[in-house]
Amino acid sequence: MKAIRKTKKVSGAELMDIPIPKIGPRDLLVKVKAAALCKSDVEVFEWTPLVQAANYRLPFTMGHEFAGEVVETGELVSAFSKGDRVAGETHIPCGTCRECRTGNQHICSNHMGVLGRSVDGAFGEYIRLPEVSAIRLSVDVDYIQGSLYEPLGTAIHALQKVSVSGANIAILGPGTIGLMACEAARAMGAAGVITVGSNPERLRYSLTLGADSAINAKEQNFIKEIKKQCSHLDAVIDCTGNAGLINQAIDALSAAGVLVHVGMVESELAIPRYMY
Ligand SMILES: [Zn+2]
Ligand SMILES: [Zn+2]
Repeated sequence: MKAIRKTKKVSGAELMDIPIPKIGPRDLLVKVKAAALCKSDVEVFEWTPLVQAANYRLPFTMGHEFAGEVVETGELVSAFSKGDRVAGETHIPCGTCRECRTGNQHICSNHMGVLGRSVDGAFGEYIRLPEVSAIRLSVDVDYIQGSLYEPLGTAIHALQKVSVSGANIAILGPGTIGLMACEAARAMGAAGVITVGSNPERLRYSLTLGADSAINAKEQNFIKEIKKQCSHLDAVIDCTGNAGLINQAIDALSAAGVLVHVGMVESELAIPRYMY
């Protein structure tokens, strides 16, 4: 089968022919029907310092946001059968460590597999997907939509760290996850949703997804602007990883506000002057 593989610890990737993956007793073999490109895939492609520090073993097939059809099941698989339509959860948990047993399988501390990094991913015609990491698609969801379950899960997970109902929430970085968080925050009953970013098109789009206002941080002081627009800010969902913006976001938050990190923070955070 064809697959896009990372073979060298430099910028780039290779399209190559490799055997269809063999599955184990608890795995599904999934024919990939749609895959999406995550910012982290771009980081892997470019082999940025953040990725270099993670020290992944090469080679591996890239990609972790996808949906497809189950074409084969291992003999111990119980919840899925041939023909099922599934999306993949990026993390492959052990199921027995403390994190796995307390609802935090996505940060399993026992050699967790990560699709498209430590385990062959979805940018191939087929993927070996452990049953534990398969999510069934709803009947009204097509494969392209299904390939976005993973980033949607990230957005919802971030919002679950906040009491969204009745809260004023700012979302920094209206990329895919930020925009999904915007729409989901509205659906979850946020009183106010403000998006902050620098891409005018994405900011405008956020208004169609339920944001009350969109602030261009390149043109406006967003702390001042937020303070003008709402009496208190309960939460910030940071989808940028930008240390400068994160520090400003802390200033924009009300006392007892919550800051949720989604973006990959590439430089060290310094949180200044918080002695009252
Ligand atoms: Zn992703
Ligand atoms: Zn675990």
